[in-house]
Amino acid sequence: MTADAKRVSEDALAIVMGERPNPEAFLPHILDAFASYVNPGILKARKSVTEAGDEAAVEWEGYGSLLFDVSGRRFIDCLGGYGIYSFGMRHPDIVAAVQAQLNRSPLHSQELLDPLRALLAELLAATAPGDLTRSFFCNSGTEAVEAAIKLAMWNTGRHTFVAMENGFHGKTIGSVSLMGPQRYREPFQPALIECTLVPYGDVAALEHTVQTSSPKPAAVVLEAVQGEGGAIPAPDGYLADVRRVCTNHGVLMIVDEVQTCLGRTGTFFAVEHDQVVPDIICLGKSLGGGIMAMGAIMSSPKWWKVWEPNPFIHSNTFGGNPLACAASIAAIHVALRDDLAGEAGRKGQRFLDEVGAMARRYPNVLESITGRGLLLAMHFKSNEIGYAVSADLFRRGVLVAGTTANARAVRIEPALTIEDDLITEVLQILDAALSEVARTNI
Ligand code: PLP
Repeated sequence: MTADAKRVSEDALAIVMGERPNPEAFLPHILDAFASYVNPGILKARKSVTEAGDEAAVEWEGYGSLLFDVSGRRFIDCLGGYGIYSFGMRHPDIVAAVQAQLNRSPLHSQELLDPLRALLAELLAATAPGDLTRSFFCNSGTEAVEAAIKLAMWNTGRHTFVAMENGFHGKTIGSVSLMGPQRYREPFQPALIECTLVPYGDVAALEHTVQTSSPKPAAVVLEAVQGEGGAIPAPDGYLADVRRVCTNHGVLMIVDEVQTCLGRTGTFFAVEHDQVVPDIICLGKSLGGGIMAMGAIMSSPKWWKVWEPNPFIHSNTFGGNPLACAASIAAIHVALRDDLAGEAGRKGQRFLDEVGAMARRYPNVLESITGRGLLLAMHFKSNEIGYAVSADLFRRGVLVAGTTANARAVRIEPALTIEDDLITEVLQILDAALSEVARTNI
């Protein structure tokens, strides 16, 4: 411990408890702390540092779809924390539920039965398709995928998987084994689970792989809409075809809805678009209502059976804690009460129509917009152009989401609650940014 640890703790707590700090001293302090104690690489990767003019954008507060930095600059949030802010920031009904629970007990005793976990599982069972009535809770998307991997191995006695090119499932050892982009897997290669990747949307390739793989895989894992891969929806009917292949070959179907759950793509779960019931679904991100970290898997009693004799073979300390469950219960209630899936469909269509028209106006810059609901991506002519447009948007106060694929695909992933006049503002700013990049970069 350093001699001044106590003073450092006092200063940090003063920031937590205080009003917005004076940026003059605060900004250099935060930049230095990131460089010295977190990872200097982050400072090079963030537009909030590289494109922010004289002052890095250090976030301070937000509500709904608006975010403000320490210097008071306003941003319209079309990044949505990569899918966590489906309800915007600090949705009052979700904050109220978490506060009510905080006033009773923040975490669980681990011995008495914690009621909110049961109530949330009951609620999820009422919303999920088919016989997906059992839930297990964790703290992140990747933990949900880990649980799904283990449940599939446990039920089948098999240990290999089939996943999709350009898929994204998280970065723990199990999840990263299923990752599309090779660069995330390479450094860890000998330790990873064996997984064959097939092209997303190609049912013949999938069937061939499942049929000829030896040993036979435990499960096929895929997203209903590839999020990090660039907002690519499964072609119509593909999920139903995957379901058929999995059933015919005795392989489990795991759908990763970490980014698509709770209405993001226009239906409460994205698999509803094809009316498919997977064996396991993985949930996360917006499940915590933009307030708490929360992940889950859901499956049917049939696959849950192996877990019943000893429920602690796979468990964790914080998963399904009362604050997270309170947030999820309120979030699901808000999503159903306010028909946020319908809102995502309606607002997403507006983006598809109006940004699609911009692609026709600026053909040398923007190729297309893809996606479903409010999980959308603009596809640019090149990496450089994609970066130039998103940097220009940042400077004009609109946050958009990069993808792991490349800078050519830039996601638009706002809150499902984003106001129509903010969408109008975003579209006007986007038009100006495209026009500017068309003028200067080509
Ligand atoms: N699965 C999907 C589809 C995701 O998009 C992500 C994160 O982006 C994950 C899993 C991993 O979630 P987390 O970052 O919460 O571990």
